[in-house]
Amino acid sequence: MSLSRPSSNAFGSSLVVPSAGVVSFEEARHLVEQHAAAVSPGDPETVDLLAGLGRVLAEQISADRDFPPFARATRDGYAVRAADMAEVPAQLDVVGEVKAGDWLEPGVPSVGPGQALGIMTGAPLPTGADAVVMVEHTSLLADQPAGKLGGKLRGKLEVRRSLSVGENFVPRGAEARAGQLLLDRGRRLDHAGIAIAASVGKSRVEVFRKPRVAVLSTGDEVVEIDATPGPAQIRNSNSYSLAAQVENAGGEAVRLAIAPDERKRLKSLIEEGLDCDLLLLTGGVSMGKYDLVELVLGELKAEFNFTGAEIQPGRPVVFGSCGGGPSTRSGRVGDPPPHKKYFFGLPGNPVSTMVTFELFARPMIEALAGMTPQPLIFLSARLKSEIRTKTGLKRFLPAVLSGEFENAEVELARWQGSGDIAALARANCYVVIPPDRDRIEAGDWVSLLMR
Ligand code: AMP
Ligand code: MG
Repeated sequence: MSLSRPSSNAFGSSLVVPSAGVVSFEEARHLVEQHAAAVSPGDPETVDLLAGLGRVLAEQISADRDFPPFARATRDGYAVRAADMAEVPAQLDVVGEVKAGDWLEPGVPSVGPGQALGIMTGAPLPTGADAVVMVEHTSLLADQPAGKLGGKLRGKLEVRRSLSVGENFVPRGAEARAGQLLLDRGRRLDHAGIAIAASVGKSRVEVFRKPRVAVLSTGDEVVEIDATPGPAQIRNSNSYSLAAQVENAGGEAVRLAIAPDERKRLKSLIEEGLDCDLLLLTGGVSMGKYDLVELVLGELKAEFNFTGAEIQPGRPVVFGSCGGGPSTRSGRVGDPPPHKKYFFGLPGNPVSTMVTFELFARPMIEALAGMTPQPLIFLSARLKSEIRTKTGLKRFLPAVLSGEFENAEVELARWQGSGDIAALARANCYVVIPPDRDRIEAGDWVSLLMR
């Protein structure tokens, strides 16, 4: 899609705004996903395991041996033969003890019929035993010399519960077989992934280079955060919230200078931003007389995939690319590669900026970081108080999820619209309202997008 439509904005100035049109939220998201599916991540690099936290694996991680490597007791108690407990209470002879880290040569000492071996969580199950009875279900009979834990434990044991074969231990290889894939390429390393890498002995991991994401804020009223703003000036919070979101999504943010609402300077900053792997712009995409972002991108021969989404906040969001067309390339060896660079024009209102980042820019950054595509995850909760709204747009409204344990309920944060970052900071999620609903009753289930 790359159409041009002559249009005039509300102020009557005639602009040639390249447009692919305003699409539904779902179409917009699918368009981003389709384009994201075709991008390639950067080269792999090897980093120390903990430096890999939040990075995307460029290698597969497989089990280096069986998991667990031996039949592992999961309870403190006694290794026994379940058949001996066909009738309970049963009396067994305690013939020794095995603790975590002990390795009993197979068969020595084994657990024979009528015998039990003291066993601790994490210890290997001795040969002959086929279950572990929990210590809570046993008593060492008082008139027998029981010995002490840690020493050689001997004596008579009474078991009060019957148990089945296989109880309270994990057989060797039950979690994973040697060579089995545990973490695939494209997986972002979190603490669970770090645990797996550590457990197979990987002190260094191969991850993809982080994509560099240019962040370009626009607006004559926007000033740097360490400047003293004039009475009508606004500090540039968007560059910082976006940089934080970029890092959180697995990218490296490159904050550019603030672009004024002036074509030449805006154009040169956009060109600078297009040197990165992705360009995020904020502001200047609405219908105001000085909203020049689409215009300048059009001058740079941008292709637009959409120029708006039927959502609130964030309707004016723009997604497209520059460069990399089939145009004049001969396809000869040695030709420069077709460097198609994607951009998002995010609305300048800070809450709109944050929401549209999460909905649309995040999946592109994740793809550039080498990550396997992730679906948006919606939770549900009961609404605390009624919502009335207008139909036509899918709404992502800042809200507070509260309540103890299973009794979660959600309520819209009181806000002054999509410029209200104070309200957003008080919120912990967005209530998602479908475009055809103008009223949702208290007590109804609503979808939530966590943030
Ligand atoms: P715009 O999308 O350019 O029409 O801007 C919409 C609103 O967002 C205006 O009130 C701007 O002042 C505000 N805004 C734009 N850019 C930023 C920024 N970088 N940081 C904070 N607020 C901004
Ligand atoms: Mg502006």
